[in-house]
Amino acid sequence: MLEIENLYIKINDKEIIKNLSLKIEDNELHVLMGPNGSGKSTLAKSIMGYFDNINGRILFNGLDITKLSIEERSKLGIFLGFQNPIEIEGLSTMTFLTHIAKGSSFKEKIDLIYSIADRLKIDKEMLSRSLNFGFSGGEKKRFEIMQMYLLKPKLAILDEPDSGLDVDSLKEIAKAISDYKKESNASILLITHYSRITNYLDINRVSVMLNGTIVKSGDINLIKEIEQKGYNYLVDSNV
Ligand code: ADP
Ligand code: MG
Repeated sequence: MLEIENLYIKINDKEIIKNLSLKIEDNELHVLMGPNGSGKSTLAKSIMGYFDNINGRILFNGLDITKLSIEERSKLGIFLGFQNPIEIEGLSTMTFLTHIAKGSSFKEKIDLIYSIADRLKIDKEMLSRSLNFGFSGGEKKRFEIMQMYLLKPKLAILDEPDSGLDVDSLKEIAKAISDYKKESNASILLITHYSRITNYLDINRVSVMLNGTIVKSGDINLIKEIEQKGYNYLVDSNV
């Protein structure tokens, strides 16, 4: 599904991603963990096409997408759910949704939007507000998941969909993510720095990022290892 080869990204002369390689298989739920500032969000944005100044290669289903625009990548089936979604006052959430929803008629789009909102327990009143404006942290996260359901990506990168959620919302978001994966046969790259959400998901692979590169990959046991020992043992052991 996705292959990243020897990726380097510089922002303002500072190397944020260094010689990073990562593979995500078809229908894989891949968890990416790492401390704050390790470069997880930068990596997520680079897969979506937010940076021009990169070295290395990104392949999506064998196609070299390294130079493609965000829109082209989106059309190929890549989606990014943001860690901090932007608020746009004055742009109605419903208007935004009808623009991204797929459907042959306006009515079909509206029906689809409402059925997904119901399913994700998103209040219809919220859809009449400005985009993300005044949404709580949890509402923003839920709304990112709603966009994933509307756009139906083959690869969804979800950047900390669990941050700031209470335990009930966390379970619901985790269920929405695994249901989506099952129904759409999609791959998911789930970024988190808490292990909490991983208790509710069926995880295929785990990678750990430190200082701009992947330092270790493994199965679910890697999460337990990090819980016990912290991230620093990976620095010290120099893996
Ligand atoms: P994470 O998501 O793992 O917390 P980020 O990718 O957000 O990490 O950030 C990695 C590093 O890149 C941080 O040191 C951050 O300050 C820096 N960084 C990210 N975006 C920018 C930017 N636009 N300008 C300068 N530095 C940035
Ligand atoms: Mg981040």
